[in-house]
Amino acid sequence: MKRCTSISKDNSPASPPSPKAEPPRLARLKVDHAAIVENWNFFRKLAPGAAVAAVVKADGYGLGAVGAARALAQAGARVFFTATTQEGANVRRALGEGPQVFVLNGPSNDIDTIVASKLTPVLNSLAQIKLWDHRAPAALHIDTGMNRLGIGPEELPHAMSALKDTSIALVMSHLACGSDTKHAFNTTQLRRFIDASMLFPRAPLSLAATAGALIGADYHFDLIRPGIGLYGSGGLDADNPKLAATATIEAPILQVRDAEPGETFGYGATFTATQKMRTATVALGYADGYLRSLSGRGYGVLGGAKRPILGRVSMDLIILDVTGCAEAQPGTMVEFLGPNAPLDDIAALANTAPYEVLTTLAGTVRKSGVRA
Ligand SMILES: *Cc1c(COP(=O)(O)O)cnc(C)c1O
Repeated sequence: MKRCTSISKDNSPASPPSPKAEPPRLARLKVDHAAIVENWNFFRKLAPGAAVAAVVKADGYGLGAVGAARALAQAGARVFFTATTQEGANVRRALGEGPQVFVLNGPSNDIDTIVASKLTPVLNSLAQIKLWDHRAPAALHIDTGMNRLGIGPEELPHAMSALKDTSIALVMSHLACGSDTKHAFNTTQLRRFIDASMLFPRAPLSLAATAGALIGADYHFDLIRPGIGLYGSGGLDADNPKLAATATIEAPILQVRDAEPGETFGYGATFTATQKMRTATVALGYADGYLRSLSGRGYGVLGGAKRPILGRVSMDLIILDVTGCAEAQPGTMVEFLGPNAPLDDIAALANTAPYEVLTTLAGTVRKSGVRA
């Protein structure tokens, strides 16, 4: 057999190996802050009569609360919501004085931080009203049926006397079934909210998160509180509006392999090749927050096409079908979430909500991968 003759013909002295270090083969998160602002502006147009807050809890749904809050404040956002006091303090440090920062979970043993960071706590119970002890303006959360946080309508008379002359910055409630815009419980909660709000004739009112804002203007009141909408999903079960993709997750190919019919792939050998295939092993797995429920269902995008996941997602690796894809080479990045792998699509394939996809996948890659 004739040996390859094109090798070693060059008699010039061997050049030293390039000192350029190979980049780490890690997953990468790119956050598009302009897209977050674009989505916030979508809600401003949707609710021209209301102020539009920005919910940046859970580290900005995994994308980074400080970066999102800075971009939104620059675009004109004046009201922010975090879940915890610590998150609120971080946002305050990033934004300086001026914007109002509400803490949804309300005060506990962290009142000193709330006061020092000029946060506005949401009072969710009689106990929190007493704990806050009319120090400064606070929001009041009325439970209209979610049964999670908030003061029930029957407790309101008690709450009124406990509040005394506390300045109420906001009276709010939260919808349980907003993701189904036709759900009868939405109108029940709307009615309960209007009834309760009669007791606070001067306080600004807020009922709607992302989905609630999409139900219609009856739900907007003085302030809407979109969270997931800012990050690219309408939060509805169906017929979501088209919002801009804000997070792109890419991961590098480690190996490309050729497989024969009959070969199986990954743990459990759950996929069997029925023909010759080319596969790519990619550095992304459930330890990076890429949900295992995407096994055999999800895809990566490479060379302008969807490349199906073969078999199970493992801890740090995924196998893709890249048959006929010339771009599939070690080191090439594959998109798993982003403009070509839409959030709502990936969430549906994973049998979960876009919230979980963002907080697990973007949240984990943000901490352990490359931030671009
Ligand atoms: C999380 C949350 C929001 C934002 O909800 P999205 O569905 O992400 O828009 C608004 N209000 C409250 C009370 C929340 O807990």
